[in-house]
Amino acid sequence: MGEEFWNDPKREKEGDVKITDLVSYVVQVREGLPWTFVEVHTDDGLTGLGECSDYRSTPMLVAGIEAAKPLVVGQDPSHIEEIWQRIFHQYSTMNGRGYISHIVSGIDIALWDIRGQALGVPVYQLLGGPVRPSVPLYTHIQDQWYEGVKIADAVQAARQTVADGYGGIKTDPFKWQRARQGPYRGADMVERLSPKAIAEAIEWMDAVREAVGPDYELMVDAHGRFDVASAIAAGRALEHVKLIWYEEPVPPESFQALRQVRENTDIPLCIGERHFTRWDYIPIFEQRLVDYVMPDVAWCGGISELRRIAAMAEPYYIRFSPHDALGPVSIMAGFHVCMTAPNLYRQECLHTWFEDFKKIVTPMFDYHDGAIWPSDRPGLGIALNHDALKQYQLDPWDLKARRFR
Ligand SMILES: [Mg+2]
Repeated sequence: MGEEFWNDPKREKEGDVKITDLVSYVVQVREGLPWTFVEVHTDDGLTGLGECSDYRSTPMLVAGIEAAKPLVVGQDPSHIEEIWQRIFHQYSTMNGRGYISHIVSGIDIALWDIRGQALGVPVYQLLGGPVRPSVPLYTHIQDQWYEGVKIADAVQAARQTVADGYGGIKTDPFKWQRARQGPYRGADMVERLSPKAIAEAIEWMDAVREAVGPDYELMVDAHGRFDVASAIAAGRALEHVKLIWYEEPVPPESFQALRQVRENTDIPLCIGERHFTRWDYIPIFEQRLVDYVMPDVAWCGGISELRRIAAMAEPYYIRFSPHDALGPVSIMAGFHVCMTAPNLYRQECLHTWFEDFKKIVTPMFDYHDGAIWPSDRPGLGIALNHDALKQYQLDPWDLKARRFR
């Protein structure tokens, strides 16, 4: 295809269908956890649904979707890759990552939804078809930093989760090391773990291990909070728990720090939710920094990019396991990729949120026996319930409404 194709002014007018609008919705069904959805509207009446939720930056996302309109409105919605490339490269001064890859993700997911609807097939059929009958999940119990939570609560939740049929559990056993007031939670400086904090974390994990038995699959999330010495000390102390992985032991900026943890512990590692696009993953794979990767479909660049990162992991014989702690559209977008990727471990979920998902999407996806099951519905297979949505819509600029739990 020569230059004349790209330079033909008529090219963008040739397609039958055009994108007419991008619409964002901010919804808060769970206190302190706003979800940001994107609808892509077309002039043939089809509407695609995407998600790019991020708990700390909702107003930025809404503004970013608005800002992307000149790059997207008027385009053919079947040109998914071209639109992906256009947004990513037009924002190269912002490195195309993080904030920008969130925007790309929301739009990309909605475009795949439209494509599936236009062709009358589920998205996973467009990605090569299924390689498994369903997508196995892992889920969460409380983290030890939850307010007022006790080890007995974690033990009870772990037993219940096993009984409910989920095959894996992740938890953060590390209490916050910096006292803070108010509802805000999240690291605001790199933390040091005291020997006492590590001992408390081990007590938590030993109790959970005892509750679920020696063969059950457990993961620990450190949420990228610790300095190297703390991360190594905690990793060594956790070795006997026989985890599937120890997640984000150090902050995401330094691969050298991660390598130090890698070389000084004997525990499988996982990173990915704070890395975006295929380019961020090149050193992770080439330097064998981790054993699992967990890109987030709503942050890394959408369905297109999640599929590519999974495919990049495959020749390194590394499993991928999408991060998912957002809303119902995100988990469905990840699900369609997981149906088709041979090197899947499990898809993350918070199964206790599924009842909330039912309040705003229709129909709810099918889940049972610790897995999400495919349907024949075209596209993602879910849509926003606009009547119900009004009840939960949030003004993204309302500071009070955006207080975090
Ligand atoms: Mg995590």
